[in-house]
Amino acid sequence: MQQHDVPPTPSNFAVWYHYYSGRFPDLTRAIEIHIANKRTFDAALNRELHDRFFGSENEANNIRQISSQIESTLGDVLHRMGEVGASADRYGDVLAAVSSEIAGADSSGVQEIVAKLVSETRRMADQNDSLQAELETSSLEINQLREDLANVRQESLTDALTGIANRKMFDTTLRECADAALRNAEPMSLMLLDIDHFKKFNDTFGHQLGDKVLQLVAHTLTQCVKGRDLPARYGGEEFGIILPQTNLEAATTLADQVRLSVAQRKIVRKSTGQDLGTITMSIGVSAYVPGEDLAGLIERADGALYAAKDAGRNRVMARAADTNVAAIAG
Ligand code: GH3
Ligand code: MG
Ligand code: MG
Repeated sequence: MQQHDVPPTPSNFAVWYHYYSGRFPDLTRAIEIHIANKRTFDAALNRELHDRFFGSENEANNIRQISSQIESTLGDVLHRMGEVGASADRYGDVLAAVSSEIAGADSSGVQEIVAKLVSETRRMADQNDSLQAELETSSLEINQLREDLANVRQESLTDALTGIANRKMFDTTLRECADAALRNAEPMSLMLLDIDHFKKFNDTFGHQLGDKVLQLVAHTLTQCVKGRDLPARYGGEEFGIILPQTNLEAATTLADQVRLSVAQRKIVRKSTGQDLGTITMSIGVSAYVPGEDLAGLIERADGALYAAKDAGRNRVMARAADTNVAAIAG
């Protein structure tokens, strides 16, 4: 860590401890790529590494904290309700005592009883007012906490750099969509997309511009698909799109439209207006076979993606379940 100027914070220790332990091959690979690219391990990169690989721990902590706040707010409310309940009991006792006293009272006695009633009633009304105010505050607090919880959940499913779904959301959605496809006897397809020669782009123009390209790609993918489709950042410079109710042929056609949209985008360095040309992507497509293991579906899309790379990049390949390479576009 000293060698790479990484400050010794608990979260950085977690990242580098696991880098050396080798227990997370993806983490080890990511760090090795950054080292090979001579990237500076600045605060943003350190945070990104931690969030990417240990984000769920973060999320669990946030959720634990919000839950304990909800618990404590509810505890306060219950405590107050108990106090008010005891006070209402006392009020009831006073009323019962008064009703038996009043029968045999003379006029001054009645006056005294009425004064006592008025004061008890006022006390009760005050208490109700303050309880109401406290309940309103508590309900505002609980609503705020509910919103926080929804935000934490949303954040935990979003890729911080590009703002689209992250790998976790991708995995969950793929499972749900496969279940729905099976249940409704509908097709479902998967696209895996990888930027061509992205290492070269980073080496030539720098990682910061590379990050901007990832954002541009995410934006283009989002524009290319309909509401029910899910574009996600699958890994570093790899993306995935889940396509419910879509067969292999339609998915392949869409993949080629996506490929063209990306290839047509001009990359311009904002600060100088310098034209940096264009980038291309290779895409692999596969379709779900009802009931199959999802690993098979992903493997076919991945295989098709590699075939597209092998065949020269900037193209789409589809792999059907029973044959090797089935359809080619681009
Ligand atoms: P290919 O056409 O075979 O896919 O070549 P490639 O250079 O794109 O593939 P390779 O897997 O060799 O390199 C992927 C590169 O993607 C390595 C790394 O520089 C870059 N990369 C991965 N994640 C990020 C990221 O978050 N930001 C930036 N800027 N670059 C990234
Ligand atoms: Mg790649
Ligand atoms: Mg690549």
